[in-house]
Parts: sequence; C-alpha cells; structure tokens
Amino acid sequence: MIDHDQRRTSHVDVAIVGAGPAGLSAAIKLKSLGIDRVLVLERSGSAGGVPQFCHHLGFGVRDRHRVQTGPTYARSLVSRAESVGVDLRLNATVTGWHEDKSLLVSSEEGLSLIEADAVLIATGAREGSRASALVSGSRASGVLTTGSLQRLVYEHGFRVGNRAVIVGAELVSFSALLTLRSAGVKVVAMVTPETEIQLYSVLSPLRRVLNRWSRRFPLVPIHLSSEVMSIEGTGRVAGVQVRDNRTGSERRIDCDTVVFTGQWRPEREVAVAAGVRLNSGSRGPGIDESYMTSIPGVFAAGNVLRGIEQADFASLEGRRAAASIGNYLAAAPGSSEMGCPI
Ligand SMILES: Cc1cc2nc3c(=O)[nH]c(=O)nc-3n(C[C@H](O)[C@H](O)[C@H](O)COP(=O)(O)OP(=O)(O)OC[C@H]3O[C@@H](n4cnc5c(N)ncnc54)[C@H](O)[C@@H]3O)c2cc1C
Repeated sequence: MIDHDQRRTSHVDVAIVGAGPAGLSAAIKLKSLGIDRVLVLERSGSAGGVPQFCHHLGFGVRDRHRVQTGPTYARSLVSRAESVGVDLRLNATVTGWHEDKSLLVSSEEGLSLIEADAVLIATGAREGSRASALVSGSRASGVLTTGSLQRLVYEHGFRVGNRAVIVGAELVSFSALLTLRSAGVKVVAMVTPETEIQLYSVLSPLRRVLNRWSRRFPLVPIHLSSEVMSIEGTGRVAGVQVRDNRTGSERRIDCDTVVFTGQWRPEREVAVAAGVRLNSGSRGPGIDESYMTSIPGVFAAGNVLRGIEQADFASLEGRRAAASIGNYLAAAPGSSEMGCPI
C-alpha cells in the first residue's frame, strides 16, 4: 500500500502513456491545437517505440509520405515532439491509476501521481512468447522474440547465436530474418502453422508473389502448415522438433537460437487497470468513433487497439485521437481550450 503523502502529485492537460508512433503523433497534434501541458510517459530509456529497433526500410508511407528506416522515422517523431514543447518523460512506467485520469507513475525519482484532464493510452502491442505458443521442451537459453532480438542486436550489439529457426512467416518474421542476417546469424528455417505467408493488409497484393517466391527460391526454407513442437538442448538450444501438420511427419532441425515472431496481442495492462470496457474481438480497450474508451476522458490509439498494424497507421490514429481529445477538453465545463473537428 502506498502512502498518499509519499507521492509527488502534478497536473497536466493531457497525459499520454507510451512514446511510440501513436503517442508521439498524438502529442504533436495536441500541441498544434494549442493545448499547453502535454506529458508523454515512456517506460523505456528512449522514445520512438518499436520502430527504433527496426533497421529496415518501410516506415512513414502514409503519414510522412516517404519511405524511411524505423530509427529515422522514430527520430523524426521524437525531434518534432521535442521541438513543439511536448514534455517527454523517459524511464517512467505507468503502474496503475489512483482514480479516473490520475496515473500512478514509477520512475527513477520514485513514485508520483499525475492528474490529467484527459489520458491517451498508447501502449502498443507485444508478441506472443514461447509460453503462449505452448512449445514444450527444455528451458535452454537462446529463445527470443523479435522485440528482444532487435534490442539485443541493435541496442546492445550482442552476438545472439549462429543458426536460427524463426517461428512465424509474417512481415515481422522477415524483419527478424534481416536482423539475424545483419548480426551474422544463419537462418536455417522459418516455420509457420499457416498455409501461406501472412502480411499486413497494405502488402497483401504481394502475398501470392511471396508465396510463390518462397516455394521456388527457398533461400531460407519456409515450412508452411508446420509447427515447432519442442525445443531441445541443455544450457543452450541445440535443435527443434518440427511437425508437418499435413502429413504428421516430424523432423529435427539443428539450431542454437529460436525466434518467436508475431501472434500480437494488445499491451493492455494500463487499460485493464483503468477498468475500461474491453473489445471482445481484439481484447484491447474498446473505443467509440472518437477513440474514447468507456471511461469519459480516457482515450486509446495505436496497436493497443488491435495487436498489429503498421506504424503510419498507428501514427494517423494518434492524430485523430488527439483531435477528439481537443474537442473533449474544449467541451469540458469552464474550459478555455481550443478544439478542432476530426
Ligand atoms: C519487427 C517489427 C517490424 C516492423 N516493421 C514495420 C515496417 O516495416 N513498417 C511499419 O510501418 N511498421 C512496422 N512495424 C509495426 C510498427 O512498429 C508498429 O505498428 C508501431 O510501432 C505501433 O505504434 P504504437 O505507438 O501503437 O506502439 P509501440 O511502437 O509499441 O509504442 C508503445 C510504447 O508504449 C510504451 N509503454 C507500454 N506500456 C507502458 C507503460 N505502462 N508505461 C509507460 N510506457 C509504456 C512502450 O515502451 C512503447 O515505447 C514493425 C513492428 C515490428 C515489431
């Protein structure tokens, strides 16, 4: 139990949880609407969200109208947010709520309470882990998700292994493939229970080409309709058992690294702690057409709403949510804020 007196309390116009594309774009938009005190709380030590660690091209098409690498895209959002005066607080994790629109924050300075007139939840999504994929076997080291792989390689320059199996064959799996290759790791197989490669909606016209390409030119063998049944090895991963679901046959693939990719789910803990109504399909926060949750003044945008979409989609959603927040604040009793229509 936290003693209320031990917490520092401050008040802002809008508090945003998460400094990814959705949160940062919302913050920039809110400042452009004339909203003064916009605070973004980010649990990690750097702002920009997932794109910071995706060193391939493919970001910014619909919001920046150019194609950028993830880090360039993330940097441009961060520098625009800073230049318009967004208060960006790093290493600040929202751990709960005191009451509606009052956030409990844990940071290097200790615990604090942030009261806000409106809150935007932009906490993104996370990948399914080995546990959620129900893969049995030993607890050997060398089992990663794409997110942990990219942080180890790009943030810490860590040598992750020599031979890797990627579980999944969607866009994020190919991002893992590029990361492993750039780190000098040979990818010996991609394994997916799906009957074809999965892509984000915007790239679906390429699906047929990629599926044909993967069958004809298996630079990396892609095992469709197949599952990793177990992981073997003591201390370090030594191999995986893979079952072909069409034939029931099993094979062993030697590897020292297994990367679980995809199976996205909303990072919804902050929304759950708030007590907002959840969407039964996505299992993220439910919203109305103005991005407001079931709690008045608490909004949500970005991948927390669904699992996975592209960064520009999340960014545009952040802007639209910010416009709605502007309207909400303008309509609040005694408000002098400027709002604008979506
Ligand atoms: C490997 C990979 C490759 C990708 N490739 C592409 C691509 O080529 N092109 C493209 O457009 N998109 C790509 N994407 C998707 C893109 O990264 C996401 O759509 C985008 O990052 C979503 O933005 P977001 O703001 O919703 O969430 P995120 O970027 O996930 O940001 C959420 C932020 O919230 C923070 N947070 C969470 N909980 C808390 C808390 N309690 N307190 C404080 N902070 C918190 C997190 O630390 C994080 O920084 C890729 C994603 C991955 C994983």
